[in-house]
Amino acid sequence: MGEFELIQRYFQASVAQADDGLVDGVVLGVGDDCALVQPTPGQVLAVTTDTMVSGVHFFSDDAPYDLGHKLLAVNLSDLAAMGAVPRWIVLNLALPAVDEAWLAAFSQGLLATAQRFGVRLVGGDTVRGQLAFGLTAMGEVPPGRALRRAGAKVGDLICVSGVPGEAAAGLAHRLSMRSGERLLPEEFAAQALARLQRPEPRVALGLALRGLASSAVDISDGLAQDLGHILAASGAAGNELGACLELAHFPLSPLLASLPQTLTWQYQLAGGDDYELLFTLPPEFMNCINELPCNVNVIGRIEAAPGLRLLAPDGSPFILERLGHDHFA
Ligand code: ADP
Ligand code: MG
Repeated sequence: MGEFELIQRYFQASVAQADDGLVDGVVLGVGDDCALVQPTPGQVLAVTTDTMVSGVHFFSDDAPYDLGHKLLAVNLSDLAAMGAVPRWIVLNLALPAVDEAWLAAFSQGLLATAQRFGVRLVGGDTVRGQLAFGLTAMGEVPPGRALRRAGAKVGDLICVSGVPGEAAAGLAHRLSMRSGERLLPEEFAAQALARLQRPEPRVALGLALRGLASSAVDISDGLAQDLGHILAASGAAGNELGACLELAHFPLSPLLASLPQTLTWQYQLAGGDDYELLFTLPPEFMNCINELPCNVNVIGRIEAAPGLRLLAPDGSPFILERLGHDHFA
């Protein structure tokens, strides 16, 4: 199978082309030198891209359906963190060879999730090379309404969606299985692996936070490190803000509670791969938390003194060994 047949079979056929007018703002989809899209008049375009490399971001034997889903989900998570409505995506694929079963499952995972979020694949690039893929996602947000990393104020509540830490437990479990051990009992293993391999982007939450959150970021590299981005961006020039996080207020699932305590804290604070939203909320909006479209917990506060202070449930300071993931550290 050649490059063009491959594109047509797996990435074009599923895209309905309207003969007369626009479907989902797509004037021209896959098949020409460029796609043509029609943004909603008056909206700002939000653009993001993420790359996933075999052996770095995933295992080569990961289920291709999950990889297709996750590639899209991590990009939709970035749009969610900006409060943008997802619209169009562009796919870059490097494949060592044409494996039709792999491609079919990968494209199904990607396109099923695209359909669920009302997103259209409008183009891409396909080359031979070491297994890697990238995706660019475009979304829309009204002018001045995007959620940004800058904007947190002293006294704001620090909030997080879902249960950060479970994805890291999933990764640790996978690695433990490779060395013939099992970190998690059977009852929790499937849940943790699902959190790692099928993250659910918080798109609805991002939209609900427009006009409420003073800053936001999605957790990809570890909660403490990603909070650091908010503290750096929100401070005055050269003058970072600080924060205090209380571990007693972090959501604790039975899965996380089954792990040794310091491991749980390490995963919650520095695990990464959560794709939850971490945001700050002015205290007068505290009552709005119950009306948000998913579970949200208040885990700390923004403070004027620079630095991150972590409090264990007994009130003693907790020192984190590693803040999060850095590709070049
Ligand atoms: P060009 O050489 O002009 O850049 P290509 O031959 O690379 O075009 O691609 C042909 C068409 O197929 C283009 O519309 C491109 O956007 C699309 N395309 C290529 N690879 C993919 C892919 N993996 N997924 C979706 N569309 C793709
Ligand atoms: Mg061309």
